[in-house]
Amino acid sequence: MGLNDSSPGAMRNGRGLSDQWAESVVVRPRTTERHITVHKRLVLGFALSILTLIIVTAVAVVLSVRFEECGGRDRDGVTGESGSRGSGGSAKLNGSRGERTGERGDEETVQPWRNSRLPGSVRPRHYDLRLAVYMDNFTFSGEVSIELECINATRFIVLHTDRLEVRCGAGGRPANRPGGGAMRIHRHFPYPANQMYVVVLHREMKPMRVYRLNVSFDAAIEDELLGFFRSSYTLQRERRYLAVTQFSPIHARKAFPCFDEPIYKATFTLTLRHDPQYTSLSNMPVESSSLSDEDGWVTNRFARTPRMSTYYLAWAVCNFTYRETQTDSGVTIRLYARPDAISSGEGDYALHITKRLLGFYQDYFKVQYSLPKLDLLAVPKHPYAAMENWGLSVFVEQKILLDAEVSSSSYQMELTMVVVHEICHQWFGDLVTPVWWEDVWLKEGFAHFFEYVGTDFLFPKWNMEKQRFLTDVLHEVMLLDGLSSSHPISQEVEQATDINRVFDWIAYKKGAALIRMLANVMGQSLFQKGLNDYLLSHMYSNAARDDLWNKLTQAMRSEGRDIDIRGMMDRWTLQMGYPVVTISKNQSEQLPTHYITVSQEHFLYGFIGWNFFNNLYSENLQWQVPLTVAVGNASRVCSESLIWINNKTETHRIGQMDDKTWLLGNINQTGYFRVNYDLQNWKLLIQQLHTNPQIISIGNRAGLIDDAFNLARAGYLPQGVPLQLIGYLPEETSFLPWHAASRALYQLDKLLDRTDEYSLFSDYVLKQVASRYHQMGWPTNGPGNEGNVLQASYQTEELQRELIMLACSFGNKQCHRQAVAYISDWISSNKNRIPPNIRDIVYCTGVSLMDEDVWEFIWMKFHSSNAVSEKKILLEALTCSDNIFLLNRLLNLSLTSDLVPEQDVIDVIIHVGRNPQGRNLAWKYFREKWDILNARYGEALFMNSKLIGGVTEFLNTDRELNELKEFIQSSGVGAGPALPRALEIVEGNVRWHRLHRRQFYQWLRKPPNPGLG
Ligand SMILES: [Zn+2]
Repeated sequence: MGLNDSSPGAMRNGRGLSDQWAESVVVRPRTTERHITVHKRLVLGFALSILTLIIVTAVAVVLSVRFEECGGRDRDGVTGESGSRGSGGSAKLNGSRGERTGERGDEETVQPWRNSRLPGSVRPRHYDLRLAVYMDNFTFSGEVSIELECINATRFIVLHTDRLEVRCGAGGRPANRPGGGAMRIHRHFPYPANQMYVVVLHREMKPMRVYRLNVSFDAAIEDELLGFFRSSYTLQRERRYLAVTQFSPIHARKAFPCFDEPIYKATFTLTLRHDPQYTSLSNMPVESSSLSDEDGWVTNRFARTPRMSTYYLAWAVCNFTYRETQTDSGVTIRLYARPDAISSGEGDYALHITKRLLGFYQDYFKVQYSLPKLDLLAVPKHPYAAMENWGLSVFVEQKILLDAEVSSSSYQMELTMVVVHEICHQWFGDLVTPVWWEDVWLKEGFAHFFEYVGTDFLFPKWNMEKQRFLTDVLHEVMLLDGLSSSHPISQEVEQATDINRVFDWIAYKKGAALIRMLANVMGQSLFQKGLNDYLLSHMYSNAARDDLWNKLTQAMRSEGRDIDIRGMMDRWTLQMGYPVVTISKNQSEQLPTHYITVSQEHFLYGFIGWNFFNNLYSENLQWQVPLTVAVGNASRVCSESLIWINNKTETHRIGQMDDKTWLLGNINQTGYFRVNYDLQNWKLLIQQLHTNPQIISIGNRAGLIDDAFNLARAGYLPQGVPLQLIGYLPEETSFLPWHAASRALYQLDKLLDRTDEYSLFSDYVLKQVASRYHQMGWPTNGPGNEGNVLQASYQTEELQRELIMLACSFGNKQCHRQAVAYISDWISSNKNRIPPNIRDIVYCTGVSLMDEDVWEFIWMKFHSSNAVSEKKILLEALTCSDNIFLLNRLLNLSLTSDLVPEQDVIDVIIHVGRNPQGRNLAWKYFREKWDILNARYGEALFMNSKLIGGVTEFLNTDRELNELKEFIQSSGVGAGPALPRALEIVEGNVRWHRLHRRQFYQWLRKPPNPGLG
């Protein structure tokens, strides 16, 4: 599942701020990260659900539950099978949890439906699902016939339904099938607390026998982006509707009665009946299609699926058109979208890369794509960036349709990565599914990791896995995971409400970072071999993390390398956080000089001073750290070696060293940890960067910057070290170290921009930026250079953009003049000649520096623009104004009118908060409107935590801390993990001011000579 990402860059008040950076501290957890286009409807869910229930109750018609005993054979006459059909390693059903067979009187004492998990006494083998879809009144009626296998003798069938009122016919009816008989139903009832439906039989079902349960139901096609829902778009001024499913993680139960846990894999045959003006799609191709003589309706029967989890089932009813292509192995790929988008070719790019990606993954995993076709469906509204339903993946339009004329390269990059992510899921997720949601990172971590690997395949020059991964994944998630309010990546979940929470940054980004670390320890070929074995062993089934560790360990053993991968990885997946590894040259007299001392401790931003969890965790946590170390001097780097660190402190022998050699740990930042050194070593590394940075790899240059700033922020290093380190930036010609630096600087900027001595900081930054900024200049907007990243040199464009953003944000006069000139030209000529890649920077700078007319001009353009990406940056530019009156007006219009799309309201509030002139306003507004905001967005955990993080991250005074505490006490009950996290971040901000600000400014007032420490 793809989460919605924030836009790649945003500016406030002339100070640029990378969204990714800004939000990272905040967490965009839950599902949400990157990505969320949650709709108001989603959040109105609760109210709607009640309404729906009433409607459903009123229209529910069918409802006969019939039971047949098929005497150990399934209905197709296949001989009876033993209960262990599910293959799949350690993948086991949930167990029968003490359910005992029994007398009718036991029912009240057993009550398996009171458990939040299904009892596991029966499991589904096949669903025959028939639906009639009424698009005129947005309802559907269905019948499902579920073939069940009994595992343990039981009188109870417990399965999931939500908002489906299911009534059973009184008693069972005799079956007409030879060899089978109907079983009488004692009683049946819903158990809404666990979204379950219970059928109690008169007598027990017997293990290893197969039964059939028939249920009929009616329901509404919801307007809230979950289950089987509807949305609309406009075509030739006419409103058109479509209906599509979103079942992950627990919404299949809203569309049909089912065993809605990932372990209950089954096959599905779906039949859809609907008005012939619509097309219908599902996971599999249409097997037969017929028109009714009576009403002219079409009935599409789709081919039987392979075994799969309920949450990957999907269907859609729409009047989209498509373009298609075919892979060499004969898989048909179609992209379905609005007819106007298809005819203008906006889907062609995604179609093209999907075809290449299927080939790439088949080669990499050595496992064929399993289905005869893959449809990509572009929908106007979706709760996530995308959803990887097997054979029918659904994308929100902004993540799959591309208009190359107006799209920036970052838009294209993001879109590409979403597609790469979802296609990876066809293997990691669809084919092999995590046993339970606690290991959701098994699929999301892999898909996120392969975003970088797969994008490198498509565009090798982007260098994603070796470079961009570091800033966008590793550095970002270490910010979050360095908080004591973090959590282990594998986290226990039982309640339905907790399941949404597991889709957070930790699952996606830490998962990807750990997988990358492991892949590097194993080596590419063994890693691939292990994955291949894992996929083959668990295909069409489920797997837990131990299954993966076993296969990877076996792969290593096959080459004579004996590493207990489970033992190693359990430390990383079952413990929260990560270590800081400190490397120092031997200082003791007893050992010769080529020994180093290495120690590890739990890295925490709050490691000095008070912290709730500190004592509890940080003392006891230890990791098995694969530390790579290189030694170098002014002219060369000597061999790197891998050292396993298992204890708190260890001594290791390393190559020859003298006073001039430095040590460098975590080569290319493949490990998920920070590295610290003794101060003398920092000094030598900084000297090296100043004199000849290229000796150290690009990845390590970025890593040194990120580690130094964060170690200083947490108090592990003097504040001057990172400042001195970035003194080498004028020599830096690569994008990545600049990107790492700018992320760290914007982070500091949030802490400092209301301090008296702020100009000391901004002047220092501008001094580092100036020469490279002037050298790179501004992009030209000539023909053939319209932001098309396929042709352009991506790294150069990105560096240019980064430098312009830094220059304009921190107040470079020439940068301001250039931005103003662009805006003036646009207004006077009514032609937008601003290169797409830097429009957000120019708009924001213009609004912040120019008068009110410019704000009105941008406001007007916001209303008249049709391109999704353009609209978003215009709206964000409006938040850059210095004028409190305008900001206030924007906030009020956002919340109370239809002028701002509902999913963008939260972004408006957050961006106003990023503007130093708007901070107090946003913080006050947030508290005043909390009841309204919480009612609207509270259910969407991601939106909620994004909002809370966004308006609190810049708070850094005692007074603001107290305001936050008061707010939490009075209003914050039940807001999820976002408020405790916000509190920890703000406490960290206040602590930094108390402990470190003086030292920081002292260094800036009198920096030592460059490179001399
Ligand atoms: Zn995903």
